[in-house]
Amino acid sequence: MSAELEQQLRRLRESVARLHGELTRYRLVAWTAGNVSARVPGHDLMVIKPSGVDYDDLAPENMVVCDLDGVVVEGDLSPSSDTAAHAYVYRALPEVGGVVHTHSTYATAWAARGEPIPCHLTAQADEFGGEIPVGPFALIGGDDIGKGIVETLAGHRSPAVLMRNHGVFTIGRDARAAVKAAVMCEDIARTAHLARALGAPLPMAAADVDALHDRYQNVYGQRPPSPASP
Ligand SMILES: [Zn+2]
Repeated sequence: MSAELEQQLRRLRESVARLHGELTRYRLVAWTAGNVSARVPGHDLMVIKPSGVDYDDLAPENMVVCDLDGVVVEGDLSPSSDTAAHAYVYRALPEVGGVVHTHSTYATAWAARGEPIPCHLTAQADEFGGEIPVGPFALIGGDDIGKGIVETLAGHRSPAVLMRNHGVFTIGRDARAAVKAAVMCEDIARTAHLARALGAPLPMAAADVDALHDRYQNVYGQRPPSPASP
């Protein structure tokens, strides 16, 4: 293994372990459910949570390195039982650098009904560019979940999909972006649930959703300093 790859793996083990702390901080997971993975850029590898380990015990050393067929290449523990779904997403979508899965309560309540979350909020337009879609029911283990994620997201700007009767999968350019999408998905699902419970949420014009999404994706936030600046 090259020194460069070793260094990359050290950094990703550390960040993937740390990002699992965000899942508990935002109360997106119960017991050992939920998982984060990161692609190893430039290599057909990913770093993922071990299966069935308490969140308090997750550490850089016990993260598992797998190839993109889900075969373990480094680590003593078995990888997450959702590894096949993560691996499928990385094989199908080269631009994706991180994948997250949770059964976060409100989003999963929409998944239980098989109902996409319609876009009634500016924050949803910003982050998801429209509705948060529902993917098919699929059993764990093979390629069915990954296939359902990829096929559903292909028709949407959303980085989150609600897999029917199951829970949330999110993607991002890196693992942190996928975790952010999982946090925002649950926040929006909760607000949408409350709005629906209290009455009929008001529609947003498609052009406004487009404008908000474009601004948020391209203008919002801190710009990296340009090479010309002192
Ligand atoms: Zn699950």
